Amino acid sequence: MAQRRLVHGPLAPVDLLLRDVHVLDPRAGLHARHDVRVRAGEVAELAGPGELSYDPAEELVEGHGRHLLPAFVDPHVHLRTPGQEHKEDLETGTRAAAAGGYAAVLAMPNTDPVLDSAPLLRSLRDAAAREARISVGFLPAITRGLQGEQLSEMAELREEGAVGFTDDGRPVQSAGMLRKALQYQRLCGGVIALHEEDPTLSRGGSMHEGTVSAALGLGGIPTIAESTMLARDAALAGYEDARVHFQHLSCSASVEAVADAKARGWRISAEASPHHLLLTEEDVRGMDTRMKMHPPLATEADRRALIEGLRSGTIDCVATDHAPHARDEKEVPFEQAPMGTTGLETAFAALYTELVLPGVLELELLVRRMSAAAELFELPTPLIAPGEPANVTLVDLDAEFIAGERGWESRSENCCFVGRRLRGRVLMTLSGGAVVYRERAFSVVAA
Ligand SMILES: [Zn+2]
Ligand SMILES: [Zn+2]
Repeated sequence: MAQRRLVHGPLAPVDLLLRDVHVLDPRAGLHARHDVRVRAGEVAELAGPGELSYDPAEELVEGHGRHLLPAFVDPHVHLRTPGQEHKEDLETGTRAAAAGGYAAVLAMPNTDPVLDSAPLLRSLRDAAAREARISVGFLPAITRGLQGEQLSEMAELREEGAVGFTDDGRPVQSAGMLRKALQYQRLCGGVIALHEEDPTLSRGGSMHEGTVSAALGLGGIPTIAESTMLARDAALAGYEDARVHFQHLSCSASVEAVADAKARGWRISAEASPHHLLLTEEDVRGMDTRMKMHPPLATEADRRALIEGLRSGTIDCVATDHAPHARDEKEVPFEQAPMGTTGLETAFAALYTELVLPGVLELELLVRRMSAAAELFELPTPLIAPGEPANVTLVDLDAEFIAGERGWESRSENCCFVGRRLRGRVLMTLSGGAVVYRERAFSVVAA
């Protein structure tokens, strides 16, 4: 019997009627105004606007002028627990995710201790069932302690509910070690997610190697640090017919390598982050440490290649790589600052504002890519259809706000989009049929 790989938090399923809301779910073929009834946490009925009668036992949500989307799924977040709860924990991280419209996230294992054993996975899953607002899955480490020397007990971890495996934060440097992991993956299933970086090329760098790093006098990381490692690992995945997912693509050479590998029929997928899709090395000129992340922000040509990859499907999904850091850790000189930006609370609005509104990307495509990780990781895909659990997000696409103006749900505030004027505010999120987020100013219509 397959273990349920996503853990649901303790919030109870609800009854509510969303009246006259614009439902946009490309997978369900929906793009029109509807009444949507949720009963006991399941999508129970869909009908024309104003057609469903209101039952006083349920909550009434006025949806007019608002959009109901399948909730988002993020395959790449750092919840920082155990060991670094001053940055984030299960409760704050999933609260941030819910505020961003997410119904499910996958947590990375570079914690303290590293998530590389079945007992620790069991205790984290138990903690998620008590503390998480939304569904959480875990990707334990490929190698013990992320050391790259010994494989973790992959079969045992799968038994305990591992969605897949990753050494994120680090590459699997040894091709022989990765090959062994891929052979185990074929036996025990799950997706191997890879952070691609050749440390012999990236060492000493704190931003993209190019004209800006030269001007600022900062050590550079060349894009080939990512793309050569990615090409190697795609070839290994092809050779072993293993299932591999490439994390946070940052440059055109990587997009080309993924397209090439997919054309060969290899079983690979890829993600890109909002910051790599929207920012470049130019944004690092102010030496704001919120712009320091791994892989680093690259050139405008790289950014355009990522957008084209997302449009064509070479890049399958959006992942935030939400990486919280405490203020004092980031308030240091650029070279010393840790890598990473938070992103769960701004992902949809930032991409909607900067890509959909200017006509670069269609809204339907963005909505699809925001939850495509579910299919890639063999998890239930949010679908707005009768009988499905309500995993939905209600957004006001016209509402404008300044990112961070009211603070953050995350425990950390190192968001690279802070201060930006964004459109597309999440008003309400349901995960597993429970209301996991309500925007403060958004009131439910009382009966
Ligand atoms: Zn990474
Ligand atoms: Zn990461």
